[in-house]
Amino acid sequence: MIDNSKSLGRLSWTEVAEAADRNPVVLVPIGAIEQHGPHLPVHEDSIVAEWAAYKIAELTDGEVDTLVAPALHYGHSPTFRGFAGNLSLSAETLKAVVRDIIESLVQSGFKRIVLVDNNGGNVGPVSGAAVDCRRDLGVLIGHVYPWQLGYGLMRDVYDDAAAVYGHGAEPELSAMLAIFPEQVDMSKAESGGLNSESGWTPLSYADAKIGDYTVPGTVYWDFSEVSKNGVTGDVSVADKATGAEWIRRVMGFCAEYVREYDRNTATN
Ligand SMILES: [Zn+2]
Repeated sequence: MIDNSKSLGRLSWTEVAEAADRNPVVLVPIGAIEQHGPHLPVHEDSIVAEWAAYKIAELTDGEVDTLVAPALHYGHSPTFRGFAGNLSLSAETLKAVVRDIIESLVQSGFKRIVLVDNNGGNVGPVSGAAVDCRRDLGVLIGHVYPWQLGYGLMRDVYDDAAAVYGHGAEPELSAMLAIFPEQVDMSKAESGGLNSESGWTPLSYADAKIGDYTVPGTVYWDFSEVSKNGVTGDVSVADKATGAEWIRRVMGFCAEYVREYDRNTATN
């Protein structure tokens, strides 16, 4: 899957300088190390971010000149700190690291950068770094979030998307079965529900039912306070074919995003 010709990390400094002169779009994978239930690896977000960046490069090959930067494997996952293996940077650290990476790319001569960021906790710090770089360095930073895009693009694939969607469940579980099947242990897969011992009715990470309202209220639990196994959603409907559809739809969107970014930044 890794196309060495697209890897920035494999270039020498003189080759990086030559590559920057071509004004390519640099794809920067950003992940997280956090739990996704007993059946999925803690580096899931990272390996999928890196895979997605190379997949985008492959899908746009011949149309857009891209380079894939070495992945940032660590992200910001404060809500999962109650689960082992949660190797999380603080929001301030992640924002500073992303800013430093962008600034270093600009110093190396690159002007066009798209972040392939695959963790919800990252979005705040990463967005903060990106808008600061627009202000301070003049670069326009793009951003795609494959897991989040999957929620939006896969709804009609399921009878009841709301019932199967979730952390460690759909659509990420099917995607993992299609991309990294050897890293999924379906014998340990169990569906998850949310439950509070202190009276709340949790609806998702930080959402609680409030009276008869259809709009939820916000409560900042640790996820381990409302989930024993770390999973939400239904793991029983996952399969490779659904994962292949996730790849087609989500990577199709990401490739089209990069084409759009390339067109609109051609003179940057
Ligand atoms: Zn995750």
